[in-house]
Amino acid sequence: MPAGDVGDVFSGVDDQVPAALADHLRGIQLIDHHVHGAFNKPIDRAAFEASINEGSTDPVPNFMTMFDSPLGRAIRRWCAPVLGLPPHASADDYWARRSELGPDELTTAMVKQAGVARWVVDTGFKGDLIATPEQMTELSGRPSSSILRLERLTEDLLEAGTDPVDFPDAFRSALLAAVESPDVVGTKTIAAYRTNFDIDWSRPTDVTVVDHATALAGQGKDLRVDSPVLIAFGVHEAAEHGLPIQVHVGFGDRDLDLNRTDPLLMLPLLRTMAPVPVLLLHCYPFHRQAGYLAQAFDHVNFDVGLAINYLGSRSTALVAEALDTAPFAKQLYSSDAFGPPELHLLGAVLWRRAMGLVLGEWVRTGECGEADAIAIVDMIGVHNAERVYGL
Ligand SMILES: [Zn+2]
Repeated sequence: MPAGDVGDVFSGVDDQVPAALADHLRGIQLIDHHVHGAFNKPIDRAAFEASINEGSTDPVPNFMTMFDSPLGRAIRRWCAPVLGLPPHASADDYWARRSELGPDELTTAMVKQAGVARWVVDTGFKGDLIATPEQMTELSGRPSSSILRLERLTEDLLEAGTDPVDFPDAFRSALLAAVESPDVVGTKTIAAYRTNFDIDWSRPTDVTVVDHATALAGQGKDLRVDSPVLIAFGVHEAAEHGLPIQVHVGFGDRDLDLNRTDPLLMLPLLRTMAPVPVLLLHCYPFHRQAGYLAQAFDHVNFDVGLAINYLGSRSTALVAEALDTAPFAKQLYSSDAFGPPELHLLGAVLWRRAMGLVLGEWVRTGECGEADAIAIVDMIGVHNAERVYGL
């Protein structure tokens, strides 16, 4: 087994974080409200390095290593000690030690130190390299809930031979089953990847939906929904069924047109949809727009997951900006970890540290009482997710 632990998250900065706030942040058991499975098969170094590059879809070029990036450096800083290595171990030493461990052993070592009470797992991206929610629970000893991907549901129904004429009702039946399932706590749209946000968000009629389902079903196997009509249909139906809706916003791989994923482009939807909780995910570099929307609409919430990991030590600035305008009841914690279990741990470490540094300064300068700072930590780390998903 790995010999080490992650160590104190306030190492090097403990004089900047008031003691009670620091202790609270060290101990709080978070709800990671948007996360994916960890790798459950061995991967080689090239695959690992590619999996810590969100934007590129190419292999990492041979003039560089992703270990020399804000995220790679944070992994060497915080995850090397978990493997029994000193902080800042070299990339080669890190890789050599990591390679001695099996995937489950590695995941257990990392996720058990994340201090996460519950994983809310997005199972939409299918891969046989990725642990299921049940496996995540087994390896971490913590319960999981799951999120239903709306585009995946459309594709699954039509791939399974649903007659396009029956598609609207079949989709509604599946949502009804999700409402009744104790495991499913919400839905998710990846419109950002399929159409971007500047589409007609009005609710389509069933007749129009059937036309678009017919066109899609005619494409054969391995369907890929990219019809704005089918996407708007899925979102409005999920809302009508009272299901929370997660929305991928901003930061993602280069398949998406980042410039067309500003969440302000969703204003026509946010103004007209049934007001179920909307969770704007990641949001970077549009996290300020997301914070504004969370203030402007009672049903809108947001997080800065994924970016916390990718910004490494600069995540402190991101967490500070995420606290610009939105009421504290409208922001949630997530890691958006996918693949390397280092990411499940690192998200929690960097968030605790950043919250300590940012709120610690508010307390030290008299802008905020320490009890208030602790209450903000509880809201973003736990309570807002409990409220939004009814956990
Ligand atoms: Zn994700």
